[in-house]
Parts: sequence; structure tokens; C-alpha cells
Amino acid sequence: MKRIAVVGASLAGVRAAQELRAQGYDGGIVLIGEEQHLPYDRPPLSKAFLAGTASPASLELLDAGDLASLALDFRLGVRATALEPGNRRVLLSDGGSVHADGVVIATGGRARTLPGFEAAHTLRTLDDALALRSALVPGVRVAIVGAGFIGAEVASTCRSLGLDVTVLEALAAPLAPVLGAELAAVCARLHADHGTDLRCGVSVAGMDAAGVRLADGELVPADVVVTGVGMTPVTDWLAGSGLTVGNGVHTDAGLVTELPQVVAVGDVAHYHSAGVGRRHEHWTNASEQAPVAVANLLAGQTSRTYTPSGYVWSDQYAGTLQLAGHPRPDDTLSFVDGDPSSTSFVAVWQRDGSTVGVFALNNAKLFNRLRRPLRLPAAV
Ligand SMILES: Cc1cc2nc3c(=O)[nH]c(=O)nc-3n(C[C@H](O)[C@H](O)[C@H](O)COP(=O)(O)OP(=O)(O)OC[C@H]3O[C@@H](n4cnc5c(N)ncnc54)[C@H](O)[C@@H]3O)c2cc1C
Repeated sequence: MKRIAVVGASLAGVRAAQELRAQGYDGGIVLIGEEQHLPYDRPPLSKAFLAGTASPASLELLDAGDLASLALDFRLGVRATALEPGNRRVLLSDGGSVHADGVVIATGGRARTLPGFEAAHTLRTLDDALALRSALVPGVRVAIVGAGFIGAEVASTCRSLGLDVTVLEALAAPLAPVLGAELAAVCARLHADHGTDLRCGVSVAGMDAAGVRLADGELVPADVVVTGVGMTPVTDWLAGSGLTVGNGVHTDAGLVTELPQVVAVGDVAHYHSAGVGRRHEHWTNASEQAPVAVANLLAGQTSRTYTPSGYVWSDQYAGTLQLAGHPRPDDTLSFVDGDPSSTSFVAVWQRDGSTVGVFALNNAKLFNRLRRPLRLPAAV
């Protein structure tokens, strides 16, 4: 292959470019990114960067040495608008195009929005974080819709800035579908212990200058409103490409699409393994998929399959939450160190006598020991 286009200049795209070089590819790599910024890391956007304790430079994914050694042809501030596999071309929003023998799709996701909340802040990009950070001035009251990972981290950061925070969550407990009721209660306790007013089981109707209006008409007063209600994979530019999209770009177990010269990685990749389709929205997944996708792209066929570690972390208040594996609601949860009322504990999920998931609050050492032998979902 003479030239490979990587579409999406964030974590998954950068890891793919690094992996292409690591696996010996010495042709051209064009890295196409809709954002103006050089590739940066998103996790600090809801944590230290939002708190004002991390600089934009500290987010950069590539240092000067990486930039020199990778020899990337950057096209930043430009969106890919179409993929024409027959012509081996990626069309660009500036009217240009890139001819490429191989394509890595790494377009991630956009923050989902809610009807009636068009004026709310969302948090996906550096520009989103800059806008939200400048709104978090002393004395403002913050309402956050959604108590998932991003909503909880924004709440935590806002409390660290001394702001009044209300979190509005439709579920009975935060993160309950991911963690189950017992650990969801721990997340709720973290909010309560740090002065966040968490209101679960509420339905929101819209927002105005006074705050957030609930479906029952109650007003939750707020000066700054943030919605943290998930993301939507970016696949619109692939219309007409012939690739199957739907909750991401469909691939086989090796992250290869219907076309052997097109692979997908990161939050946008919807891979199918043992008849099950999966898409993950976590940092480690975006990083770990690149070696597999790139090996298959260079081989021109699926020679390796992806096995996810299912590792996620989240920093909330004084706690670091870590999760590994793929627990299901019917797995048995037990505490192997501490208990749910303590500030540090480790719990495991078991299924058919095997450990299938580990969760820790402030106990990285034991967590890391227990996650190693985890039973992972079968790959094809
Ligand atoms: C605020 C925040 C905090 C997070 N914290 C954590 C955490 O603590 N732990 C954890 O495990 N994960 C965390 N994550 C998730 C993690 O950052 C993502 O899983 C990761 O960024 C996914 O990388 P990606 O490259 O697949 O997608 P993205 O990071 O979404 O990047 C996709 C890139 O593609 C660009 N793009 C999209 N469409 C086009 C197009 N048509 N043409 C050109 N470019 C395009 C986008 O502009 C974007 O730059 C966090 C995410 C956010 C937003």
C-alpha cells in the first residue's frame, strides 16, 4: 500500500498511525481530523482540565519526537465527507480528496443532545471543555442531566470548584445497568458524601434561563446546564460507501469491514465476534484495537481477532473507580476486600465458578492482580 488514510485524528486514529509504523509500514499516512487541534486526550476534559489544573499542552497525544518519527501528513480542520471505495478516495469538506489504498475509520462519536436542551453544554471536545470551563465562575449553580461517567465526573469537578451541583438522572440509581444495584448505590453515595444533590428517577422536559424544567413542571434552578447523555457514533460520512453502519461501523472480529482495505477502530467500531456485536466507548479499547486492525489491514485479510479487556476507569470526587471484564446483571457479586460502605474496596463478579469482572474503588493494586486472569468473551 502506498498511502493509508486515517479518518479521525484522536486516540484511535493516532494509535493506528503509530501501529502502522510499529508494524513496518513505510508508505504515506494521511491523518484527517475535523477538529483544528493536534490530537489530544479526552479523559482530562472532565477532570483536571475542566478544573483548570491541566493545560491544553498537557493533553497532547503526540510530542515533537513522535511527530517527527511518524511523518504524518496532517489534514486538520477538515472533515471527511464521503468514502468512495471504487475510486480509492476519501472526499474532504474543503473540496479536496485523498487517494488511499487503505483506510482506517476512527471517527469516534459526537455528544448526544436532548430536545429542549439545545442551549446546554455538552462535553466531548476540547472546545466543549473550554466553553464549559469559562462558564464555571464562582457562585453559579450547575445542573447536570445524566449521572453516567461524564455527568458524574463533571459534577465532581464542579464540586471541587465549590459550586452548587444538582444531577438529574432518569434511572433509579447512577450507572445501574453497567454496575448493578449494589455498586450503583456506592456511586450515589459518593455524590451525596460530596454535597452533590443527586435526584434519580426524574424526567427532564427542557431548560430556560431559570434552570431545568422537569416533566412534572418543577423547576430546578441553574445558571449552567450540562447534558451528559451519551454519544452517537459518527458514520454519516459513510453513506453511499457500501459499508454497513448502524450503531457504528460494522466489522468482523478482526475490525475489518466488508472491504479488506478498510478497518475501523475505537468508539466507532462495532465489531462482531461469536455472533455478538459489540461497541465500546472507553479509552483502553480505543488504544488496544489498533494493533489488531492494523495487522489485518496490512495483511489484506483477517488474520488476528480482537479480545477486549473491558477496562474502564473513572475519577469521581476522592475516588478512582476501576472496572474490568464484562459482567452481566445475573452474575454474582461479592466483596473480596472491604465493603460497599468503605472508601476503598474490591468486588468481583462470578459466573459458572469463574471470575468475569472486577470492580475497585481506590484499590488499584488488588484490582490489577485480580483482573489479569479474567475470563474474557470468546473471540471467533
Ligand atoms: C470528557 C471525556 C472523558 C472521558 N474519560 C474517560 C475515562 O476516564 N476513562 C475511559 O476509559 N474513557 C474515558 N473517555 C472515553 C475516551 O476518551 C474515548 O473512548 C476515546 O476518546 C475514543 O477515541 P476515538 O479516537 O475512538 O474517538 P474520539 O475521541 O471521539 O475521536 C474521533 C475524532 O474523529 C473526528 N472526526 C469525526 N468525524 C470526522 C470526519 N468525518 N472527518 C474527520 N474527522 C472526523 C472527531 O472530530 C474526533 O476528533 C472520556 C471521554 C470524554 C469525552
